[in-house]
Amino acid sequence: MQFKDIAGQRDVINRLTEIIDSGRVSHAQMVLGDTADGTLQLALAYLQYLGCTNRQHYEGGDLRADSCGECPHCKKMAQLMHPDLHFVFPTAATAKVTGSFWSGDFMQEFREFLLERNALGTVEEWYEHLGIENKQGMIRESDAAHIVSDLGLKSYEGGWKMMVIWMAEKMNTAAANELLKTLEEPTPGTILMLVCESDERMLSTIRSRVQTIMVRGEGEKANEAERTQFAGLLVEWLRLLFKLKMKELAAQVDKMAALNREQQKQFLTYALGVMRDCFLHGAAGLPVEIGSGDQKFDTMFPTMVTVNNIELIEKTLDDAIMAVERNANAKIALMQLSFNMSKALKKR
Ligand SMILES: [Zn+2]
Repeated sequence: MQFKDIAGQRDVINRLTEIIDSGRVSHAQMVLGDTADGTLQLALAYLQYLGCTNRQHYEGGDLRADSCGECPHCKKMAQLMHPDLHFVFPTAATAKVTGSFWSGDFMQEFREFLLERNALGTVEEWYEHLGIENKQGMIRESDAAHIVSDLGLKSYEGGWKMMVIWMAEKMNTAAANELLKTLEEPTPGTILMLVCESDERMLSTIRSRVQTIMVRGEGEKANEAERTQFAGLLVEWLRLLFKLKMKELAAQVDKMAALNREQQKQFLTYALGVMRDCFLHGAAGLPVEIGSGDQKFDTMFPTMVTVNNIELIEKTLDDAIMAVERNANAKIALMQLSFNMSKALKKR
């Protein structure tokens, strides 16, 4: 991957090549932003530039520098076949791979996935590629153990030993603690790139030990479409919570359960955001645009979320998000959520 192949992000890229040229490379960095906006591309282009033996510098263009794309390092990096380039990413058991496994057991699939989608594929698309779309992928202890051992190896090519951790926020606690040790005592000649979409779930001790590179989105469109879909689902569901007609509610729960796990989580997180908005705006006597297309509902609903029930509503949604993360049966979890939510709304 060369910088020229990345859409936009010129300011960030130019700053990075300047830092690399100056030799002030931090051994642990976090590229933060949506994969679809090029975070993983950026990490790969960065590592390619870092080891390129014939860095190109330009005058007057939008890029100040780029890797050559032709030296042996660049060629191996472009094919993702560099022996000192290692990856860790979220996985789950598949039909073929079960028992004890780690990212390396899925490396061939991952390489295919990156090359096919030019490193822009989302984590949902990765799960789909792997055939685990209804499971939650995770970066586990076995992965962390490999991070430690891979970085501890002697460099094959005599250059940097590179480790890319994609969707680092999917690390479980054991893996995060193990990674922390590596960050505290880095092996010389190693570079760790954490690529994440959100750092909220990242241990603050990890965040404080990495240099963050922010990638801002130019492609908010997909999110916009998703938000419209979520708004429709949410409003229908909220209406039914008042009526509590079981047949209709069950049908609505089916619709929500038809989303894949990752989307279910996004939907519930979206719902949580709307509830908080309702509470804040309602308290200030301001209307909230819920997206029902029905002004009466948009005016009425926020008055249902008050100081008396906001905490219970938040807890109810948080519990449902956790249930989805734990791979609980989605229909049961969402039905349970519906009952609890209905009760919570009555306590206003
Ligand atoms: Zn090169």
